[in-house]
Amino acid sequence: MAQIIDGKLLSAQIKEELKEKTKILINEKGIIPGLALLLVGDNPASKSYVSSKEKSCSELGFKSIVERLPDNTDEATVLGFINKWNADETIHGILVQLPIPKQIDEQKVIQSISPKKDVDGFHPESFGRLVIGLPGFVPCTPAGIVEMIKRYKIPTKGKHVVVVGRSNIVGKPIANLMYQKNPDANSIVTICHTATSDLSYYTKQADILIAAVGVPRIIKAEDVKEGVVIIDVGINRVEDSTTEKGYRIVGDVDFENVKNKASAITPVPGGVGLMTVAMLMQNTYKSAAGEVL
Ligand code: NDP
Repeated sequence: MAQIIDGKLLSAQIKEELKEKTKILINEKGIIPGLALLLVGDNPASKSYVSSKEKSCSELGFKSIVERLPDNTDEATVLGFINKWNADETIHGILVQLPIPKQIDEQKVIQSISPKKDVDGFHPESFGRLVIGLPGFVPCTPAGIVEMIKRYKIPTKGKHVVVVGRSNIVGKPIANLMYQKNPDANSIVTICHTATSDLSYYTKQADILIAAVGVPRIIKAEDVKEGVVIIDVGINRVEDSTTEKGYRIVGDVDFENVKNKASAITPVPGGVGLMTVAMLMQNTYKSAAGEVL
């Protein structure tokens, strides 16, 4: 049975470390890390993500500002908030919860955030820095994956990493991080997507398989080799009448069967998802401490 890569434990450890460092930053430099969050509309998942980010800020001693705007908010209003926060010295990180309603141009919003406060790491400047290997903000989910691999001492040098999914927020950045010539990566990377005709052909070759697909349990035991390390990014709702809510959350990997073949695996829930918030806090802390740009 595989070693469980425990996102709950790791994220709690990271938050504890950040809490201590924040106390020092406040005492020695008088800087309180500040995060501004913008939520447009009432998507239930987005609402809960924003609340958990707000809660983490308060646990760590950060300042947070949360603007919750109605679904029919126009682009100018959103850009107005971002411009105000770009100029506010007490704000070190700005996050617009995605997705945003269609009347607002998502790329315009992302690009209006100062790269110095881009704690979500979605600005093209941040992505360019990531690809080149320069210091910069790394998007939170890929950053969380790297942190898990690092803290569980999973060898990456010369290993074949197969990433399923090529989204801008997970697949592309994690693939680009894993081939970088540094001790936490240095892997050989393959990226799969919907034009991959025989997905299993590729996934079976993976030493490390990163699934960021959004299809419940698409990766089965027969799709992986013995000893593979599994990083399951997927967060999918499946019907379950035995639960109070009528659904439960599963990953992109068939955990119950794959865990018997893998050497290490992240559970869902309790894996990558929790790391994402911890990395947002880390990016905000680093921004406040002047450790990024
Ligand atoms: P997107 O929908 O943006 O991207 C999904 C990717 O998977 C696309 O590149 C798509 O290919 C590919 N894909 C879809 N179906 C298949 C298939 N049958 N075979 C091969 N490739 C396929 O999703 P995200 O990257 O935003 O999210 C992926 C999953 O991760 C979701 O479940 C999401 O909820 C979760 N997530 C979890 C986070 C966390 O904190 N743990 C953070 C962000 C996301 P193509 O490009 O060709 O369309």
